[in-house]
Amino acid sequence: MPVILVLSALGMETALRIKAGLPGAAIYGFEGRVEGADVSFSNFGETIREHYQSGQTIIALCAAGITIRSLALILDNKGAEPPVLAVADDGSAVVPLLGGTAGVNVLARQIAQILDVAPAITTSGELRFGTCLLNPPPEFILKNPEDAKTFISDLLAGKTVRIEGDAPWLKEARLPLDDSGELLIRVTTSDAAPQEGELIFQPRKDPVINAATSEDIGAGAPKRGRLAVVGLGPGDPDFMIPVVKQEIARAEIILGYETYVRMAGPFRPDQTVHMTDNREEMQRARHAFELAATGRSVVMISSGDPGVFAMAAAVIEALHDSDDPTWHNVHLEILPGVSAALAAASHSGAPLGHDFCILSLSDNLKPWDIIEKRIALAAEADFAMAFYNPISKPRPWQLPRAIEILRQYRSPETPIVLGRDIGRPGASLRVIPLAELTPQQVDMRTVIIVGSSLTRSFDRIDGGKWVYTPRWYGTKPEV
Ligand code: SAH
Repeated sequence: MPVILVLSALGMETALRIKAGLPGAAIYGFEGRVEGADVSFSNFGETIREHYQSGQTIIALCAAGITIRSLALILDNKGAEPPVLAVADDGSAVVPLLGGTAGVNVLARQIAQILDVAPAITTSGELRFGTCLLNPPPEFILKNPEDAKTFISDLLAGKTVRIEGDAPWLKEARLPLDDSGELLIRVTTSDAAPQEGELIFQPRKDPVINAATSEDIGAGAPKRGRLAVVGLGPGDPDFMIPVVKQEIARAEIILGYETYVRMAGPFRPDQTVHMTDNREEMQRARHAFELAATGRSVVMISSGDPGVFAMAAAVIEALHDSDDPTWHNVHLEILPGVSAALAAASHSGAPLGHDFCILSLSDNLKPWDIIEKRIALAAEADFAMAFYNPISKPRPWQLPRAIEILRQYRSPETPIVLGRDIGRPGASLRVIPLAELTPQQVDMRTVIIVGSSLTRSFDRIDGGKWVYTPRWYGTKPEV
């Protein structure tokens, strides 16, 4: 799934032409300069490096020099790199830069054909022998890409090659074949280590991967669906991790509560959005699997982290409960986000700088007894704490009771952080002593952080307060 990075309006026109020929590609546009992109970004260097590091194919609509300089610091492992191409923003040149063993020249030819220009192929092996050698069809993998460079140099220097096993894709390559050739291309299922002068191709073992990849190239095999349970972080898109943005960009179906779905949008017209209602979680989780099992890419959206009082656990439980093979065949991923406690903590300093625990005060899914017990024991053990779901209309007395318990174990000066709508419009953050904490200051959109006996606070120059819990415990170590 290539990512097209665009820096100018002219580049956008070219990007759209490329995308029309490469359906599934996502266009990333520079904020303020490019309109109509699928995703926008504000830092080219960071964006290209993130995609490179996550192994994504990159088509950069800008000068080759900018692209090279942005990636220079992180270029190391030749075998593992994804294809990276620079394309002139007016579409007049296509330059494959990196990812020779990952098919960059194949893609360069494909894009060049879309744009009706000649690709700037510079790899001599490719020019001499055609593109097939290092890019077998998806049913095969090259076991030792690290040996490819020497192998091809040897071929170019005049050595001949013999082929053992069936390598249909090499029929089109113009290789110097010879039954007594010094070099060997072996197609085998064995795991034997490659010898000198040998390239080994293996048929892929996982038939599921076969099915998915052949579908990707249009062979018509049934496609393997994807389900990603993603966390948006607290709200501000800058705090969303890049793989979550990519997963949302590639999704065909987006599921989630309306508020969160709005935070993750806008979406493209080809993406379907299902705002989930308040049906119970397991039912929503099963619905997601039903959709993904048909071969589609589904993203289920949670705020913060999907594993913290959110959908990830229900989704995995639904899978555990199911013996439907089409559900188990779905490519399932849980992608993390910055949870509310961590976001609020960072805004106030480092109140969770030592041991802490996170508790939900909601007794919808667990008995209140256990909540009281946990608060009391965590307070006694001197953990700092974060309370989620602290209060709601149907649960008015639980928070006052929790505060009462805290006061039995903590001094009245204990710093309390109240973070409300952190990362969202109208965000507020307050630091007060435990003595002043009342339920009226708190609602469902608030996360409460309770300090340990060592948590302290002091005035900031801007009128607020810094809060922190030191890394040490007991007495401050001598420096
Ligand atoms: N998965 C979410 C938590 C969902 S439970 C996460 O990891 O953050 C919902 C509770 O999380 C809310 O009642 C509130 O206590 C807290 N919360 C979620 N987002 C918040 C935000 N932006 N600011 C403050 N509290 C938040």
